[in-house]
Amino acid sequence: MSRVLIIGAGGVGNVVAHKCAQAGEVFSGICLASRTLAKCEAIRDGVKKRLGLEIEIAELDADQVADTTALIRRFKPVVVINVALPYQDLAVMEACLETGVDYLDTANYEPPEEAKFEYKWQWAYHERFREKGIMALLGSGFDPGVTNVFSAHALKHHFDELESIDIIDANAGDHGLPFATNFNPEINIREITQKGRWWREGEWVEVEPLSIHRELEFPAGIGSKKIYLLYHEEMESLGKHLASSGLKRMRFWMTFSERYLTYLRVLEDLGLTSIEPVSFEGREIVPLKFLKALLPDPGSLGERTRGKTCIGCLVRGEKSGRPRTCYVYNICDHEECWREVGSQAISYTTGVPAMIGALLMVTGKWKRPGVFNMEQFDPDPFMDLLPKFGLPWVEVMDTEHLARMARLLEV
Ligand code: NDP
Repeated sequence: MSRVLIIGAGGVGNVVAHKCAQAGEVFSGICLASRTLAKCEAIRDGVKKRLGLEIEIAELDADQVADTTALIRRFKPVVVINVALPYQDLAVMEACLETGVDYLDTANYEPPEEAKFEYKWQWAYHERFREKGIMALLGSGFDPGVTNVFSAHALKHHFDELESIDIIDANAGDHGLPFATNFNPEINIREITQKGRWWREGEWVEVEPLSIHRELEFPAGIGSKKIYLLYHEEMESLGKHLASSGLKRMRFWMTFSERYLTYLRVLEDLGLTSIEPVSFEGREIVPLKFLKALLPDPGSLGERTRGKTCIGCLVRGEKSGRPRTCYVYNICDHEECWREVGSQAISYTTGVPAMIGALLMVTGKWKRPGVFNMEQFDPDPFMDLLPKFGLPWVEVMDTEHLARMARLLEV
């Protein structure tokens, strides 16, 4: 039986709290800590109402290492699930080192003053975590997270050699609002407005933001959607850890509606997506932070969002000397997520894998001292738990439709 500390009471924190509560045979005590206590209270009440379980809550500024250290010493968790913002990753890792507690997150560290997604800052902690005998699991959300596990699963069970991985993230949900982001608007807009990059034989090929797109047919009634090539952080770790399997190309694609992109272009043209501070009535403000304050809270979208997400990996390579194509994906329904835990599917598909990663760590199935990404572990126990906690997956092999998809995605 293990105690878990969850940091961050946003959309994802809500799902993680519910899912840890559902895994009561593993997590004997749950504490949810975040900057705004009222948000922790709302989640605590939701867990009590839906599952009849009491969880502890605490107010915490996770940028302050000493405060997080003190909370860890008081609550005594064996693992910290960090679902605050990527800016807090290093501070929370420091607190885990200080107290000798395992660490998990869903998004890699970003310096607040620079929109740059790289693992180098967190990978640099490997030796210190190893020496301390504790583990950090990085990127245990859906993408990154499940997409890394899907790739490792495809390699383990279906391929001798990999050729390419295309990670495709389709959100066919509709919240009925003119413009809103499905997770933290600041992080989301920083990700989308930077240059696109894809991976070719160990090198990054850089392209203008959202300049490469395709029209793709999705399953489960989602139908035809336009997908855009983006840089996404799991390609960095997959490139490092799966390169020895022959992998030559990797791309990440995401759907956006025309309306979303039109709003985004206007906001960019007005300078509202900039992270450069500007002077306003005698004080400095960051336009993107100001925009975040105006946009709908992603947590509030759950009740009004209809439709499904489809996130998966199209993997190509060889098995026994023959070419092979495999597509592994999950379908998640926004309304079902709302009914189950009071969240939309983006928070749900991130929070479930965060809990599963922590469960595998505390039960010793994924346990090694040091700092690791998801694809470095045996994918089987993770794949087994996904459907048990609400994220069933589907696997399709070598169909004519997959061959067409693969041809379409070549750039
Ligand atoms: P939200 O903005 O809804 O929630 C973030 C929470 O963190 C808020 O409650 C916020 O507090 C809290 N927080 C921010 N700063 C601090 C701090 N200094 N100390 C304590 N708490 C703090 O974001 P989401 O829930 O949508 O996303 C959470 C994380 O999940 C993000 O890192 C995001 O990048 C990641 N993510 C990963 C995905 C994946 O598939 N891998 C997909 C989607 C998200 P306050 O309420 O006061 O603002």
